[in-house]
Amino acid sequence: MIYADYNSTTPCLESVIAAMNEIHGTVYANPSSRHYLAGRQAGNALEQSREHIATVLSCSDQEITFTSGATEATNHIIFGVYARLAKKRTRLLCTQTEHDATLHAMQHCAAAGADFHTLPVNAQGTIDTDALTELLATPTALVSTMLVNNETGVINDIAAIAEICHAHGALLFCDITAAMGKIDINLATLGCDFACSSAHKLYGPKGVGILWKRSGLAIDPLLFGGSQERGLRAGTENIAGIVGYGAACQWYHRHSIQHQQHLLSLSTELENLVRADLANCHIAGSEAARAPGCSMLSVPGLKKTWLSQLKIVAAAGGSACSSGKNSGSHVLLAMGYDDLDAGNSIRISLGHPTTSVDVQIIAEELTAGAKKLL
Ligand code: PMP
Repeated sequence: MIYADYNSTTPCLESVIAAMNEIHGTVYANPSSRHYLAGRQAGNALEQSREHIATVLSCSDQEITFTSGATEATNHIIFGVYARLAKKRTRLLCTQTEHDATLHAMQHCAAAGADFHTLPVNAQGTIDTDALTELLATPTALVSTMLVNNETGVINDIAAIAEICHAHGALLFCDITAAMGKIDINLATLGCDFACSSAHKLYGPKGVGILWKRSGLAIDPLLFGGSQERGLRAGTENIAGIVGYGAACQWYHRHSIQHQQHLLSLSTELENLVRADLANCHIAGSEAARAPGCSMLSVPGLKKTWLSQLKIVAAAGGSACSSGKNSGSHVLLAMGYDDLDAGNSIRISLGHPTTSVDVQIIAEELTAGAKKLL
């Protein structure tokens, strides 16, 4: 198998596995049991990881809350903000291209009375700021928009969006899950008020993530039953997972420039090879700024399912969380694709283990598969 679905999840780095094994083997105490040494060791391991993650995100470690992943953090932020502000501001907005964690959490609030609207994007997949400004005329609690789209790699201008949101008194939540490890992120200056991410998108383990909240902002807990994470997230922490996330961030901090360049050279090579053989192949968002390592490809009018033509390449039609849905990618539909092309697209996402030889094989399978269907 040639794995080309790194936006769905990534394998753990060896250094991550080593750090997790070590903590599993040596530190088993509860990090809340700070009155004895072993408990303090567990607590210290947790705090060290928080610092490693904060370093990569250029934020204060005190702004980071550990969660079970980006889905939990997203639900927590949306329900938490809505619960606090619903009496004054019932409007919730998110782009049509958000991850289902955001779309479904906001739809759930809508069922409970929120005035929820989705924001259109243009053909390149970036937010329509005129529509945003118009919708913000009604007092709005929260706007949600991704930094990097997980299906197309398209980058949104969060600073500009934040300026518009804040001028209208709305808070901004930014899902940085697909951006981490691909582009530099500085949460101190990005402009959003909340963010979320998941370790397994950056060579860390599954089932651990963070909620980032700007200092001074308050939301209610989603889970009750303990004072962990300064009372914001009850439940004994997933120490090994958190240590793994910290180790992944340590690796990324040391290798970010080489890693980003590696991804860029691979995805450029892939797109050039595929376009050389399939002249009408379309790359979603190719005229927008895109994070490296992700190409969403389609061949307009191609008849049957292209994805099932791939034999040794493991790739995706869209987000892994939406696979199983019969409809095409909601991201591509929002960008104006018709049903056929949105349902017959392939996302190739690459990672640090990917080689140029892999890319050549991926390109060959893609073009051979498409030609069979033309
Ligand atoms: N946001 C984005 C952009 C994602 O790609 C994902 C994972 N597909 C999530 C949120 C949810 O992450 P998790 O499943 O790890 O909670």
